[in-house]
Amino acid sequence: MKNRSLNIEKLRKKLKTTWLGKNLHHFMETDSTNNVAKALAEQGAEEGTIIIAETQTYGRGRLGRKWESPKGGVWLSIILKPKLKMREIVKINLLAAVAVAKTIREEFKLNAEVKWPNDILIDRRKVCGILTEAVSEGDRAKYVILGIGINANFELAALPETLRATATSLKEILGKEVDREKFICNLLKNFEVYYEKFKEGKTDLILNNWRKLSCILNRKVQISDYKKKFEGLAIDIDKDGYLIVKLNNGILKKILSADVTLRLTD
Ligand code: ADP
Repeated sequence: MKNRSLNIEKLRKKLKTTWLGKNLHHFMETDSTNNVAKALAEQGAEEGTIIIAETQTYGRGRLGRKWESPKGGVWLSIILKPKLKMREIVKINLLAAVAVAKTIREEFKLNAEVKWPNDILIDRRKVCGILTEAVSEGDRAKYVILGIGINANFELAALPETLRATATSLKEILGKEVDREKFICNLLKNFEVYYEKFKEGKTDLILNNWRKLSCILNRKVQISDYKKKFEGLAIDIDKDGYLIVKLNNGILKKILSADVTLRLTD
């Protein structure tokens, strides 16, 4: 059947997580799963609560950009309550990127790569975007909403023409639909495993995995924020999730993800 809705019963049965997704809300349509998650978190929803929608009318990217969310995609948000300072939240983003890329590799044998700070690419085309939003209480995160959007079972034609050169979908690459329920279950299991390790303080393990999966390290990149643009070589990410770029004049610069856009230039 074309773009059938998720079979939530099947998903619940297949889910092998300990705590993640035990509380799961499924919508045919929402404005943004992150918005719904935020409202639920404000009402006291527990950690691990998941919101999934078949389509989003106002899916968001970073910096207020629009995230296209046609039917057939995997649009989900996870409520997390890590004991983290606000500036550490970026690590959740890296962790999620590793979990998504690993799951795509394991399941479909595709060469999914992570692009700092929040995209997953296959053959340099975006197949997934991640949006981490946090609400603070002092300098700590009260809760974190992790939004993951994966272009799964739709063709490129479902996206606006302007995105077709830079985006891709699993269906487009594989030439057939994927089992979204199975994929979501494996993704959530992988995420839970990494999140547990992260909570045990094994940040290095996450960062090392991220480095191995990265398509930007040792590549020329252009960074732009609302004021300026500069170019250099992406050298590494440091233990805090900052990107280290060697500028053309040899100076090393630390970049925080919040307000910048990164483009590969080679
Ligand atoms: P960036 O990749 O520049 O960091 P974001 O992560 O904020 O940007 O994602 C938003 C951008 O992604 C949009 O401006 C658009 O160019 C692109 N985009 C929107 N929807 C999709 C989609 N479903 N698949 C791939 N790319 C998309």
